[in-house]
Amino acid sequence: MEAKDVQEQMRLLKDLQDIDTAARKIRLDRQQMEQELGSLDAEVERVRVMVTGLREGLDALRAERRELGQALALERDNVARAESRLPAIKTQKEYIAVLKEVDTAKKMNRDIEERIKGKDAEIAALDQDLQEKEKELAEQEDKANARRALIEEQLAEIDATLSSREAERAAIAEQIPLVTRKRYQTLLDRRGGIAVVEARQGACQGCHMQLPPQVFNSLFRQEEVMSCPHCHRLIFLIRQ
Ligand SMILES: [Zn+2]
Repeated sequence: MEAKDVQEQMRLLKDLQDIDTAARKIRLDRQQMEQELGSLDAEVERVRVMVTGLREGLDALRAERRELGQALALERDNVARAESRLPAIKTQKEYIAVLKEVDTAKKMNRDIEERIKGKDAEIAALDQDLQEKEKELAEQEDKANARRALIEEQLAEIDATLSSREAERAAIAEQIPLVTRKRYQTLLDRRGGIAVVEARQGACQGCHMQLPPQVFNSLFRQEEVMSCPHCHRLIFLIRQ
């Protein structure tokens, strides 16, 4: 291989690596944005579950309140009915019995009224909680929607960048012999995304080990694409 061909191949490989490095960063950004979208959704969902729970609790309390109201009406009827019997009563014994009945029913009424008061207070407190949570939910949804719109816009840009880079990458890759391209790809996968490195001051800048003199000499002569004997990354020299 001629020196200029080796030089050209190394230049293409470096370009390829630049594109791959940028693409990897962009993909990471994309992942982070998708994760952020996921956690925004989870947060909205968490508040929504709370709102649903509060609504159900409130429905149950209101049903209990209705039942108490019905029980109160029933007891009031009982009182009225017993009292209406009083004028017609002939014996003292019967009179006392009916009075006792009225008294018991009135006591029951007071008891139910107390429970209604307690229930109304519970309902008011829960309703307040519900309103606060509903407000929080609306705010969370607004926040999530605004952020989502922004992120989706950025994701679209990212995808456009990635696909344009994809075309650029393919154009470069097809100029590199398949065997070298495969070597590059394998190294990229196994060496943390860095397959092509500079050899500087006699050392590989990938693993920072000293290169044997004969490797360095071959590198200097540029007769073939060279790799570091330690980490196997493809190495190049920048001539001063
Ligand atoms: Zn190395």
